[in-house]
Amino acid sequence: AKEHGKNKYHVFHTGMNMQSYRSFLMQNDLWKAIERDELELVYQPRVDVVTGKVECAEALLRWNHPSWGAVSPAEFIPLAEQTGQIVEIGDWVFRTACQQLKHWEENGYNSIRLSINFSAQQFMQKDLPSRLKRSIMETNVSANRLEIELTESALVKNEEFIINTLREIKEMGITISIDDFGTGYSSLQYLSRLPINILKIDKSFVHGITDETNENRLITSTIISLAKSLNLSVVAEGVETKEQLEFLSLHHCDEVQGYLFSPPVKQEPFEKMFLQEKDM
Ligand code: C2E
Ligand code: CA
Ligand code: CA
Ligand code: CA
Repeated sequence: AKEHGKNKYHVFHTGMNMQSYRSFLMQNDLWKAIERDELELVYQPRVDVVTGKVECAEALLRWNHPSWGAVSPAEFIPLAEQTGQIVEIGDWVFRTACQQLKHWEENGYNSIRLSINFSAQQFMQKDLPSRLKRSIMETNVSANRLEIELTESALVKNEEFIINTLREIKEMGITISIDDFGTGYSSLQYLSRLPINILKIDKSFVHGITDETNENRLITSTIISLAKSLNLSVVAEGVETKEQLEFLSLHHCDEVQGYLFSPPVKQEPFEKMFLQEKDM
């Protein structure tokens, strides 16, 4: 990652609007975010619908900028993809997640899994499997408790390359899930060829479950049956109400995640609230 140069500045063009000026400033500061220790992972529990146990946590990235405060990953990840900064950030996220999981393992929490988001561009790196292997070896974490989340958009280009990369990652023992499922354009035929394990139903469908028009109920229950018929697990994100949970439970969704249980929280409160019963 040396070629990115820590002090590289983009040239500012006059005539930029305020939004692109903010993006410009952000891209410059993003180069320094890691060394200044401004990035942080927060964790949101994922709950087994049947047992109510926290089986997994999703790691979500936060950027605590000295003057803007918390910057949303929805804003800075696309910027990091434009400049290639996503590679360094993605490595940091994966390494930090591995260290966190190892730490939990060492403290006797031997069954919690950790799931990590990957951007489309990050997934297209030729050496991604070896980068992942390196972090796994360095932290000595059990790969079979790591999960990666990819959106459908990461999977549409260059099918052979994608299938091979997924296969290599899966062979390491890592679980693969498709995030925001139902919002992309992957064909069912293609989907059935992919070595994946989990479909995550997008929160826009989950929110619609309680609408008067039953469209989103139909989409949600169809995604669940689709997952089952492809032998995949299914997770619903963005679960905010008891009614949504009841619907998902009735249709045999495997795991749920959302504000109904907890928002994403920092490491310490996550451990206090969700890791108190040791699995040993
Ligand atoms: P995502 O992977 O779909 O993550 C779910 C988003 O929904 C998160 O937003 C989460 O905080 C939020 N959320 C959780 N429960 C609820 C709920 O009950 N209701 C609602 N309305 N929202 C809920 P967040 O943390 O702001 O992340 C936004 C997006 O940024 C993520 O969407 C993901 O695409 C991306 N992202 C986050 N962390 C990373 C990362 O480490 N690497 C990459 N490449 N992308 C990341
Ligand atoms: Ca389960
Ligand atoms: Ca996700
Ligand atoms: Ca999502």
